[in-house]
Amino acid sequence: MPTSHTSAPPEPSVCPACSAGLTTDVRYPAWCPGCEWNLSPVVVPATDLSESQRQAAAREWEAQADRLALARQRAEQVYGAVAAGAGPREDRTWIAAMVMAAIVHLVTAGLLVGSVALQFVDSWPLRVAGWLGLAFAFFLRPRFAGIPDSGSVLRRTDAPALYALADRVAAAVGSRPVDMIRVTDEFNASFNRVGLRRRSVLTLGLPLWEPLGDGQRLALLAHELGHDVNGDHRSGWWLGSAITTLTQWWYVTEPAGREEHGGVLASLVEVVANLAMAGVNWLIGLLLGVLERLSSRSGQGAEYRADAIAARIASTSETERLLRTLLLSGSAATVRARLRSLSGVRRSSHSAGVAGFWASFTAELAAVPAHETERLLRLSVRELSSVDSTHPPTYLRIRMLGHRPVPAPALVVAPEEAAAIEAELAPLRLRIARELLA
Ligand SMILES: [Zn+2]
Ligand SMILES: [Zn+2]
Repeated sequence: MPTSHTSAPPEPSVCPACSAGLTTDVRYPAWCPGCEWNLSPVVVPATDLSESQRQAAAREWEAQADRLALARQRAEQVYGAVAAGAGPREDRTWIAAMVMAAIVHLVTAGLLVGSVALQFVDSWPLRVAGWLGLAFAFFLRPRFAGIPDSGSVLRRTDAPALYALADRVAAAVGSRPVDMIRVTDEFNASFNRVGLRRRSVLTLGLPLWEPLGDGQRLALLAHELGHDVNGDHRSGWWLGSAITTLTQWWYVTEPAGREEHGGVLASLVEVVANLAMAGVNWLIGLLLGVLERLSSRSGQGAEYRADAIAARIASTSETERLLRTLLLSGSAATVRARLRSLSGVRRSSHSAGVAGFWASFTAELAAVPAHETERLLRLSVRELSSVDSTHPPTYLRIRMLGHRPVPAPALVVAPEEAAAIEAELAPLRLRIARELLA
């Protein structure tokens, strides 16, 4: 797709750092595979910064580099442990996380019991305090994730072929059949349990599902359903709700901004109260950080195990291709924006745009050149960018797959099965295309 930027400088075809020849594409940043020049295109800072602003920016930059180095070191530790054969049982960090979660739940339970006990005291101020405590305990209660809105949920009767495939994968993986499959407009997929009955929900984002081949879709299903059997404590109710409760505590104790009114004494009291609150808030933030770190360590191990399950079901090469596609979330957003602006320009052909959306979307993502995917992969090494903080960086996930390669898939999707699923998703495909182009 040719573009003409009269003001932009021409893309270099020779690396300014090592003089190697470069493959360039106007749609993507030019970079050098030899010396990694411009791997992460630098945003030129504003030139009119004051000296103190420049120093602050430099400090922020260094702090970020330190955080990345630490995150990388931690990710490589987990990688090392899992590569050496550590399973969920060897992963001791989750025990510490579970104990911390237990303390959080005990505090909530203590608040509840104490508040109830206060109702039997013969003093009305204490009884009032008890009522407040009860309200607070109710607010902090451990919660279950809510059941998704029915609009995005596919019923078994609406998509028998998709459910049948998911059931087949679940049986091969060793998990129970999934209760609900939802289809969303996100470039993502997930597995979780919701509500009191802990029903399982498999979420498939259509923008991720559509560009995948059958083998990669199988790998995606196996990875997500694998989360049910890979010892992922993070998705468990005990730990998840403790993190939610602690987060509520954090918000409640967040010191309010100072208001300018009242006398000297009033503002002095306010300052002291705010300081005390800030201390408590800081402590809760610290606990939350430790709990997040412990569970993210356990979560990263769980991701590697889910990838290994995907490789067993769909083969290593299909799983690796899936992981490479997952790197393209940024490209997917760009493609979507471009298709949206095109369909906006030609209002008359909007319905044609909707009808052809997925074909164009898939074609454009497939056309992302190999040197751009390679850049994103190397960027995941440098910046530890990953799908999110609970996932290990993609370069480590791909490297892990290489440790125990599985050449042949355990399951295969038959062409008629794939066609039936395609037909079942047709109404959603149209609806979601319309949403994405709106
Ligand atoms: Zn170079
Ligand atoms: Zn996962």
